Amino acid sequence: MEKPLKILVVGAGLGGLVAAIALAQIGAKVDVVEIKEDNSVPGVGFGLRGNGLRAVREVGLLEACMQFGSESTGVNYVDPQGRHLCTLKYGIFEEGLPGVLSMPRLDFLDAATARALEVGCVIRMGTTVAAMQQDADRVTVTLSSAETEEYDLVIGFDGINSQIRREYFGAQYDPTPVGGVAWRSALPIAPGMTGNIFIQGAGGKLVLTPLSSEIMYAVLTVAEEGRPRHDPSKMGQIMYERARALMGHSDFMADSLEHLRESTSVAYTPYSITWVPYPWFRGRIMIMGDATHAMTPYLGSGAAMSIEDGIVLAHELAKDQSLVDAQLSFMARRLPRVRAVHERSQETMYQEFDSVSPEALQRRLEFLRTEEPLANEYANRLLAQPY
Ligand SMILES: Cc1cc2nc3c(=O)[nH]c(=O)nc-3n(C[C@H](O)[C@H](O)[C@H](O)COP(=O)(O)OP(=O)(O)OC[C@H]3O[C@@H](n4cnc5c(N)ncnc54)[C@H](O)[C@@H]3O)c2cc1C
Repeated sequence: MEKPLKILVVGAGLGGLVAAIALAQIGAKVDVVEIKEDNSVPGVGFGLRGNGLRAVREVGLLEACMQFGSESTGVNYVDPQGRHLCTLKYGIFEEGLPGVLSMPRLDFLDAATARALEVGCVIRMGTTVAAMQQDADRVTVTLSSAETEEYDLVIGFDGINSQIRREYFGAQYDPTPVGGVAWRSALPIAPGMTGNIFIQGAGGKLVLTPLSSEIMYAVLTVAEEGRPRHDPSKMGQIMYERARALMGHSDFMADSLEHLRESTSVAYTPYSITWVPYPWFRGRIMIMGDATHAMTPYLGSGAAMSIEDGIVLAHELAKDQSLVDAQLSFMARRLPRVRAVHERSQETMYQEFDSVSPEALQRRLEFLRTEEPLANEYANRLLAQPY
């Protein structure tokens, strides 16, 4: 391949920005286009475990993440009354890496944008691809700004509703709902709270994660079929009622949950997945991240898998090989790993939801007490494998 490569990344989300940095670090000339005008994002926070953190370290972002993130070694699972069920350790236990780091999404995107600019990427906000045409040597891209540019490679990092996937891979790979939803909101931190708590309740769980010394992030995951239209002005109240019902109206965390009633920033996300079968490229147009393999966030690894994608592609493009050989080596490294994490994440969600009746809830609580620590160890080992 003639170097330097000229690459367009479509989408400045979690994966796209890291890919842009990794590609610029191997000497590529990278442009990024992002349809949004700024970095505002729905959803207040996300976590990276050791595997995601080792990847962000490779692109020089770990230090920034450590500054605004909140570290923990794992989670404590409790029952609806707050009684301890098990302690799960996260992470790959590498020197210098926390087990899990929870971060405000906006801070991560701002830090990744700053780093991408520092390594020479050009980022065009409020811009998308209007048309693309490829031949054996290049892709000619017309941007929404009417500018035309030529690239060696275009990477669609345009998220779960990717236009590039739809256009070049087909509508059959559109997102599929999996029957679960996440209700998310920031809350004042509960007194004395230091680490993540997972509360298994009837038909789902409530996760409480400290994001800073003042704020915690509450995520309620429950089965909710269809796409009910909730009144936007009542989201805080509905999340509150769902959380209280899930916990059988117990006293545990009841005072903290009261704050949900006034929350005006509840994000409501029905879980959907995508899966594009081998290969994730059509000539010089590739797709990665949620565009290709959006997963339920049950191993906390959707972002991590997206972030790893761009880094692995950069490794392969840095080698002395043709573009198609680099793409095939990329697929050989990514497909089995991403598939395993994707499947495991979905299965874990179904296990959690299978707890609606009192008997099923007791079975689930017993599973968490006795079997979950081993299941967690297998997941840790899977994530710890090299990318
Ligand atoms: C409720 C929930 C909680 C989650 N929690 C975690 C977690 O704790 N840990 C974890 O690892 N993962 C988590 N995830 C998954 C994680 O958010 C995604 O896997 C990750 O954001 C995917 O990164 P991406 O870059 O592929 O897509 P995104 O981050 O979605 O970025 C896509 C970008 O492309 C832009 N875009 C879209 N269309 C166009 C276009 N036509 N032109 C230009 N730009 C475009 C979008 O505006 C966006 O900025 C969670 C997901 C959900 C739903």
